[in-house]
Amino acid sequence: MRTIQSDITVVGAGLLGSSVAMHLSASGAKSVTVVDLDLEGTFSSSELNAGGVRATWNNPVNARISRMSIDYYASVRDEVGFRQKGYFWMFKKEDWERASNALKSNPNLKDARIEYLAPADVTKRFDFLDKTDDLGGATFSPLDGLLNANLLKTHYRKRGREKGVGFVNRVWVHHVDVPASGPITLDAWQWPEQMDQDELKQILTNKETRGADPVRIKTGALVNCSGAWARRFANCMGAECVSQAVRRQVSLFECKGVDLTPYGMFVDASGVYFHPEANYILGGYATVDEPEGYNFEYEGEPFFEKYVWPALYERSTKFENLKHITGWAGLYEVSPDHSGIVGAVKGFRNVYEAHSFSGRGAMQSFGAGLGLSELILKSRFDSLDLSALSGARFAEGKPVGESLVI
Ligand SMILES: Cc1cc2nc3c(=O)[nH]c(=O)nc-3n(C[C@H](O)[C@H](O)[C@H](O)COP(=O)(O)OP(=O)(O)OC[C@H]3O[C@@H](n4cnc5c(N)ncnc54)[C@H](O)[C@@H]3O)c2cc1C
Repeated sequence: MRTIQSDITVVGAGLLGSSVAMHLSASGAKSVTVVDLDLEGTFSSSELNAGGVRATWNNPVNARISRMSIDYYASVRDEVGFRQKGYFWMFKKEDWERASNALKSNPNLKDARIEYLAPADVTKRFDFLDKTDDLGGATFSPLDGLLNANLLKTHYRKRGREKGVGFVNRVWVHHVDVPASGPITLDAWQWPEQMDQDELKQILTNKETRGADPVRIKTGALVNCSGAWARRFANCMGAECVSQAVRRQVSLFECKGVDLTPYGMFVDASGVYFHPEANYILGGYATVDEPEGYNFEYEGEPFFEKYVWPALYERSTKFENLKHITGWAGLYEVSPDHSGIVGAVKGFRNVYEAHSFSGRGAMQSFGAGLGLSELILKSRFDSLDLSALSGARFAEGKPVGESLVI
């Protein structure tokens, strides 16, 4: 059986795994290996997201981790396609006071230059938003924006590879043994050739997996960056994980007469979000009754017509005539308090995790990777304190309070 030896092994090469690997190697870790079933990430959340980036969170730890990440994205903006054109967020009357007060009192948003707008100012600012009777107010956060998540992942990997990180493709880890001392052993399958989408989906949606060639990985430390598969992966080493995979759908549509290209993200009071996407508009909505599970089916026009279009028409007469083009479904990895999980896995020596970013893994991947790499290499958080995001917080009854979730 082929055996791979590595000081640190990261399972999952999405934005989180690639960021963790980049930071580990930048801090001097000599032997870092990242394994993934599909390095292209055909069904990974990192390839299926909306690319929104914001520090506009009401919990200080979420604002901090996003702020640090955004500052980095701005420093490499051309390489990662970062368009710092702001987030415009509209709130219902009943939510406005609580939401605006939470943002104003967040110490980590002091320099965010957030503007607080009355409903009358909404139409003055964006003339196509002409139906505002239900609004209590809106915020505009100019430092937020949109990026290209594929370019960001490529950037992390390139930097990691330059420092010696190895990325191993077509590997699915199915069993992990974490002994009291000595190396951790990962048992995996490796496929000799690239699989087609149906074969990939089989493995990613079913519990049982049989691959072609057995591979064993011996490693000093292990990092679970398996995204929406985090609970499944935790279970294969006997650990618990409280996160769930939940489908999220986005639609691409055409709207003649509204040009959103000068702008960033809009979040409607209904929960529908939308932003310019090439010549079209991308709109998404998190259906509240979506069951847990590995479901990648996009419902198409019926989804758009039931959830996205009506909410948009309630906001703008210009949105009366929209043409559905296409869309897709990906997975959110949802933790019970809807914030990411970053830290050491309690009860498992030298095992760490960074997952469950519930719709914010792109925007927080830089900061999360930095923080976790410090914890792994120095046993402490240096640049930013992510201890509030420890997976142990749920058992300890210390959830991260966050309500600005879409
Ligand atoms: C529709 C949608 C819209 C979103 N919009 C935004 C947004 O606007 N802004 C934002 O910041 N975030 C957004 N997100 C969330 C964001 O995409 C995710 O939080 C982020 O991509 C998670 O990255 P990850 O690396 O943790 O997981 P992934 O990118 O899913 O990577 C996990 C990888 O682990 C691999 N893997 C899993 N188990 C194993 C195993 N046992 N062996 C080998 N490999 C394994 C998988 O193949 C996969 O490639 C959105 C998500 C969706 C679905």
